[in-house]
Amino acid sequence: MKDKIEQIRLLLSEIESATGDDDSQQFTKNYSALELPSIVSSVVDFLHPFMTPYEIAIYWYLFNRSIVKTGEQYARVSTRGMSAIAKSASGQSDDLSYGVIKKTIDALKEKEILSVAGDTNREGTLYKIAIPDEISMCKELMSKRVENEVAAIDTKKELDFYNVPENRKTVFERDGYKCHYCGKQLTRFSATLDHIQPVSKGGDNSFENLITACLHCNAERGNKSVMDFIANDS
Ligand SMILES: [Zn+2]
Repeated sequence: MKDKIEQIRLLLSEIESATGDDDSQQFTKNYSALELPSIVSSVVDFLHPFMTPYEIAIYWYLFNRSIVKTGEQYARVSTRGMSAIAKSASGQSDDLSYGVIKKTIDALKEKEILSVAGDTNREGTLYKIAIPDEISMCKELMSKRVENEVAAIDTKKELDFYNVPENRKTVFERDGYKCHYCGKQLTRFSATLDHIQPVSKGGDNSFENLITACLHCNAERGNKSVMDFIANDS
């Protein structure tokens, strides 16, 4: 008896491995609840720019039926079953027409956002719903965004002569490590930077807005303008 059960198990596992094709292997990919916020955000940021409102409506419907509900990127839906997922924009009827849904799904397939992942049966067609990470036009947009951000950070760094150590040095060198106010010779340990136009009054960290000062003069001056400070001091 025990042998028989063992044989049946073996047979079942053989059948299972024989019928498991590539598509069903992919079903193992699961999305955890933790990943969802970042996927939702990337859809809005990097996929919406490529979609029409109808495409967006159908995408989120499928997204909900797949990734949200099952953690997998697959959903079986029928064109007819989607007629009420959004209000028709034509104004002729409330429901989306068969033609609109069909056209929208074709457009989504064209854009690599949807793909047919299995046969069609009475419950509809099995679709794979792609996420931005897998769609080439989204990936392009993402890398462009990253490039811009890196460039912005670099530009900011280039312009910041107050916080970036190598930039601070260039200001001290320009001023010969001498206090702009009292003329005291300073070293790289005693030199401080003072904003000509105070940050509190809209001054920035540019090369032109910074001068070398000794700690004493820097503290004395505080938020006074350079002209006021020099006038009051002498
Ligand atoms: Zn000084």
